[in-house]
Amino acid sequence: MSRDKIIVIDFGGQYNQLVARRVRECNVYCEIYSYKTSLDKIREMNPRGIILTGGPDSCYTEGAARCERELFNLGIPVLGLCYGAQLMMHVLGGHVCKAPVREYGRIEVTIDPSAPLFANVSEHTICWMSHNDYIEKTAPDFQIIAHTNDCPAAAMQCVERNLYAIQFHPEVLHTVEGTKILWNFVRGICGCAGDWRMDAFVANSVEAIRQKVGKGKVLCALSGGVDSSVAAVMLAKAVGDQLTCVFVDHGLLRKREGDEVEEVFGPSGPYDLNFVRVNAQERFYEKLKGIEEPEQKRKIIGEEFIRVFEEEAKKIGTVDFLVQGTIYPDVVESGLGGESSVIKSHHNVGGLPDYVDFKEIIEPLRDLFKDEVRRAGLELGIPEKLVYRQPFPGPGLGIRIVGEVTAEKVHMVQEADAIYREEMAKAGLDKSVGQYFAALTNMRSVGVMGDERTYDYAVALRAVNTVDFMTAEAAELPWEVLGRVASRIVNEVEHVNRVLYDCTGKPPGTIEFE
Ligand code: GLN
Repeated sequence: MSRDKIIVIDFGGQYNQLVARRVRECNVYCEIYSYKTSLDKIREMNPRGIILTGGPDSCYTEGAARCERELFNLGIPVLGLCYGAQLMMHVLGGHVCKAPVREYGRIEVTIDPSAPLFANVSEHTICWMSHNDYIEKTAPDFQIIAHTNDCPAAAMQCVERNLYAIQFHPEVLHTVEGTKILWNFVRGICGCAGDWRMDAFVANSVEAIRQKVGKGKVLCALSGGVDSSVAAVMLAKAVGDQLTCVFVDHGLLRKREGDEVEEVFGPSGPYDLNFVRVNAQERFYEKLKGIEEPEQKRKIIGEEFIRVFEEEAKKIGTVDFLVQGTIYPDVVESGLGGESSVIKSHHNVGGLPDYVDFKEIIEPLRDLFKDEVRRAGLELGIPEKLVYRQPFPGPGLGIRIVGEVTAEKVHMVQEADAIYREEMAKAGLDKSVGQYFAALTNMRSVGVMGDERTYDYAVALRAVNTVDFMTAEAAELPWEVLGRVASRIVNEVEHVNRVLYDCTGKPPGTIEFE
């Protein structure tokens, strides 16, 4: 399928994935590429427009991230954001230097409403600024279309050449009319049709998978998480019972979660696929015996998972395709797409099972952001409950139990977490709070119950609000909800005699405990 494409050229800024997400919210497909991508390759991709992102460098210093002057002569509209704007000016003959006053945070910008980039934007609008350098002199033929008190050239354009540059960050939500500005660029200036839609994506993907797989056999590891579930359903729609899904229950799932996965994907569910559930709980508990160090626990769980999966795969024999639930941020963060430094080698991209006999990998969600995966899931008819499931770490409750993991502790944290979730739902908070869960601390303390001394564990409750899971704030839950949860947990969960609430933000905390 040919579709309009915008290319985001990554100069290492922290919001670059956001740029791509916002463009897609305008129903325009886009991809992120490193600034090192050659002009030939860019030409070959034939984008409708190019966006240059922000970045940490100063364009006038040696070794700074660069782009070629030719990039601006391709006849393709270019929008530079922050560093990208500075670089455009620098390359085209303007002057960039350290700003007398640096700007950071929400700043009022005065714009020229007649500029195409600012169609329907208010004359005085709040924007997010984050820069030390500024454009002292624009490149020849550019006209200034926005300024702030401290920044005389906050946006500029050369309409004849379709080149635009803005000093602030339209992709950040604090820029009140940012999406409108990006819309004006991709839909207005670049003329993209806006036909990147999930229903079309799903229908096209299902058809493409069917073509590719033919009569082949496909294997998918199902974790019960959103990504692997959506990938599995997409495959099931495409090739039905040529697909086998292996679901490894490592005994570290939330209460009833294993059964819920089975209800959806198992024989009594709506899909025509081969479903294998491996109840490997005991095996995992055995491996985790006596292990307290978080990284070691993660490693053991990850490795054991692959071993179990491999054993099942061997029983199935040779398959033609292996399905991975890789999503676009995994691709970008693994350094395969953009420039935003190699943050982590993602398990979906790096950690393939060694001994599974397959010819090719299928990654049907490789181009999608998380919110798009969710929409694809709804499009495929997956229950909302599963599609909107909160993020759950691969090692599961293994890292929500501080210290050694035992079957008994897993039971405690499952029960406590189930009570917490039930009460949050009853209070109508389950949709408004970003993520919440119970963890089991390694602390035992003294209490009294029925006149008898207890010496038992403390459960910690966590609830955070976050937009992107990179930063988070502890949620202010109503006291009566916390009180009810605490008293039910202490009453109903054996060996818990104390409930604590975690008030730490991220940073300095992390959302998970280990
Ligand atoms: N490093 C450049 C500056 O400080 C650009 C910053 C950015 O892109 N956010 O001005």
